[in-house]
Amino acid sequence: MAVKRIRKYGADVLRKKSLSVKDISEKTIKLIQNLEDTLKKSRGVGLSAPQLGVLERVFIANDPDTKKIIKIINPEIVEIEEFEIDLEGCLSFPGVYFSIKRPAKITITGWTPRGKKIIIPAKGLLARCFAHEHDHLNGTLIIDYASEEEKKHYSL
Ligand SMILES: [Zn+2]
Repeated sequence: MAVKRIRKYGADVLRKKSLSVKDISEKTIKLIQNLEDTLKKSRGVGLSAPQLGVLERVFIANDPDTKKIIKIINPEIVEIEEFEIDLEGCLSFPGVYFSIKRPAKITITGWTPRGKKIIIPAKGLLARCFAHEHDHLNGTLIIDYASEEEKKHYSL
C-alpha cells in the first residue's frame, strides 16, 4: 500500500498505449492498491495505471452513487449512448479544465481483481470518468479534445 507520484502532462508514459493484463498477479493487486491509495489522497474521480507510470490496462473510478471504488482490469467499452458536454479535469493536468463532449451513458466490461468478469452500465459523471480513464490506456489525454483558445488560456 502506497501513495505514488502521479505523472503530469509532458511525461512520455502518458502518451503510450498500455498492454493487456495477461494474468492477475500479486503485482496487479499491488498496482490496484497503489491506485486506490493515490486516488484517495488526491480526491480525484478516477485514476489509471499509466498515470502511475505503469503501462497496464487497469483503472479505478469512484462511483458517485455508491461511494465505492470500482476497479477494472482490461476494460472495454461495449456501448455508448447519447453525448453531453461538460468541464473535465485530470489529475495529470492540475488546475486545468476543458470542455469535453463525452457519452452520457456507457457500458463497460472487464475483470475484477478477483478475476470475475464484470459488466457495468454507467451514466453521467461515472460514464465520463470511464471514457476518460479508458482514453488514458490508449495514450489519449484531455488536451487532445481542447480548442486552441482553451490551450492558450492555460498556456499549453
Ligand atoms: Zn486523467
